[in-house]
Amino acid sequence: MAFTRREFLRTTAAGVALASIDATLGAQGAEALANLGVTWHKTVCRYCGAGCGVMLGVENGKPVAIRGDRENPVNRGLMCVKGFYLHQVITAKNRLLHPLVRKDGELVQASWDEAMELVARKFRESIEQYGPDSVGFYGSGQGLTEETYLANKLFKGCIGTNNVEGNPRLCMASAVGGYTTSFGADEPIGTYDDIDACDLFMLIGTNTAEAHPVIYNRLEARKKANPGTKFIFIDPRKTPTNKLVDLHLQVKPGYDLAVMNAIAHVLVKEGYTDEQFIAESVNFSDGTKPITYDEYKAFLQKYTPEYAAAQAGVPAEQIVEAARLFGKSPTAMTMWCMGVNQRVAGVFLNNLIHNLHLLTGKLGKPGCDSFSLTGQPNACGGVREGGALSHLLPGHRAVDNEQHRKEVAAVWGVPVEKISPKPGLHAVALFDGLVQGNVKALYVMCTNPAQSLPNLNRYRKGMADAFLVVAEAFHPTETTKLADVVLPVAFWGEKEGVYGCTERRSQHLAKALEPPGEARWDGDVLIDLAKRLGYGAYFEHYKGPEDVWNEYLQLTKGKDMDLTGATYARLRELRGLRWPVPSTDHPGTRHRFTREDPLFPAEKAGNRRMYFYTKPDGKAVIFARPDKAPEEPTDAEFPVALTTGRILEQWHTMTMTGQIPALNRPAPRAYVEINPADARAWGVADRDKVRLTTRRGQLELEARVIDRPRPGTVFVPWHWADRLANVLTTDAVDPASKEPEYKVCAVRVEKA
Ligand code: SF4
Repeated sequence: MAFTRREFLRTTAAGVALASIDATLGAQGAEALANLGVTWHKTVCRYCGAGCGVMLGVENGKPVAIRGDRENPVNRGLMCVKGFYLHQVITAKNRLLHPLVRKDGELVQASWDEAMELVARKFRESIEQYGPDSVGFYGSGQGLTEETYLANKLFKGCIGTNNVEGNPRLCMASAVGGYTTSFGADEPIGTYDDIDACDLFMLIGTNTAEAHPVIYNRLEARKKANPGTKFIFIDPRKTPTNKLVDLHLQVKPGYDLAVMNAIAHVLVKEGYTDEQFIAESVNFSDGTKPITYDEYKAFLQKYTPEYAAAQAGVPAEQIVEAARLFGKSPTAMTMWCMGVNQRVAGVFLNNLIHNLHLLTGKLGKPGCDSFSLTGQPNACGGVREGGALSHLLPGHRAVDNEQHRKEVAAVWGVPVEKISPKPGLHAVALFDGLVQGNVKALYVMCTNPAQSLPNLNRYRKGMADAFLVVAEAFHPTETTKLADVVLPVAFWGEKEGVYGCTERRSQHLAKALEPPGEARWDGDVLIDLAKRLGYGAYFEHYKGPEDVWNEYLQLTKGKDMDLTGATYARLRELRGLRWPVPSTDHPGTRHRFTREDPLFPAEKAGNRRMYFYTKPDGKAVIFARPDKAPEEPTDAEFPVALTTGRILEQWHTMTMTGQIPALNRPAPRAYVEINPADARAWGVADRDKVRLTTRRGQLELEARVIDRPRPGTVFVPWHWADRLANVLTTDAVDPASKEPEYKVCAVRVEKA
């Protein structure tokens, strides 16, 4: 197939569409805008978890311009094409201006009082009749930390249910599981600073060029500054990320665990291990009990490059080459995203990545880290650190820990008995509760599960049947269409708060505008609901988001993610702070568990370079994790592997980016990528209509015949609401993280 203009652009540097003030307006242009009365407000991009700093330009109460924040060390003034149009989303036509209530099957305009009374009555009735676990909250890695904190407090601390979940369960839970088991605490050890000192990048399950374009630009900049920098890519597709790649292991979807073990096999066999680091800082486990280093080596015997090659469908020589590149390089970073996490073996695969860094000691020093990329701007901050999943409490605490419940109850000012010790329902189980009728009422904030959940045909019906409240800035979305009440809320730029991005950096977002129509801050709406449910006493001391943040900071004090020094005063001034930041004169931390970490216990650590103080003996764990096939391997009936993902111009369910014509133009319709060899075999030509069928659903899409997915695999971007890719995907979850396996299932492809 001839390259379209879009394909051409996306495989060139221009394809990541990076823009800075200098490239767009020019310095003179910015000055001219200032002279016209435009005021600039420091904030953070609303989209991916890269955490780019942006400046929002406002004139006469209207958003008129946006530019990358040159003083922000994350993006140094750059933005990708999504961020470049973000200010236009604020005034998009689909902004919701008034509350809506369903009457006679139709959503009609209502007053705030009528809508909130209905919500409070339905929740109260359900709680009284069926108990607190008959209701739930489903939030988002896009909500502000302060909003998520209030919801967590209302549901866990006042109503008394741990049915508090968020969409980070669908994208990051396996990364949390990996970090927690391998190192004793969630989130990366290093930071973006490591990119600038790294000689070898291993990218696995991440199309960085499209999903995190500004991070990709930093990788390119590193290559330019240090031409010897090498890139290994492990992914079933060729993507624009390939432009940087020296070695691409184009694995079968779902079969890369053996590859990671085989790389470890070669590292051990050929002597690339750091024996001193292992002796000082590493334990070994088979997942149920401690094992010895020798037992781990015996476990690796099976994972020869030839064995892994047969599993993953890549040449054994490539695996050996990848291991040698990793072993020989003085520094190495592994980066990954949904291709690793959205798997039934997601936690195992995260552990196997950490193993390579622990074996070689490539951790806790410049240029080295096993560094998970994050899909949403505040998944790390509000949900992971804020403890807004069904088993967590704020500050990396757990609901099943009595001491943790006491600490949280003391700060919340609620009786400790109110916080249940029983973990609530994880995301898929929560929506299954709607289907089964066990969960009667659900409050959804800032997310679109009727499009983003897997196996959608099953869960959309549950959402339609239960009492569904959706607090949203936009309407219609697939979820608001199913709601009983839709509450209009403030959008980015119209409210103040904090986001925490991939590199442990908490950043302040300024309020620059008033919300339109009757839209209100989500925090106000939650406090309103709390009052109507009789819990006003626990919320009336908040005068605004800063009070909420200050209360949350108390719950981080002394924890591994200590944010005590990240006050609003500092965050308003600075371009974020990376925790631990235990005092207001602390600059933040580049590498955790090292001597630069303010929590490093020097007296316990002796001469050790790293001390994992979140583990009882300060040692991280290398896990002997076996390879594991996907939940739904291909077979005679469904002979093709389906994988899903994102494209450069769109973000998630297109509620925001779909409003921007310039972003819709490059890919105006949903499509499926088919390898040319498969297309020939199936008699499919480019642009033909094809039918995709899985055990759960069916979808007709336009074929893009292109040498990107490996033969036997098709790729569907999941953004479009008129072609719901998730009717096809499986809701099988990782047994540990409960994250669904969006990234691989079995499909049949036919010409429609
Ligand atoms: Fe926004 Fe991510 Fe693009 Fe940065 S890379 S501008 S955070 S979407």
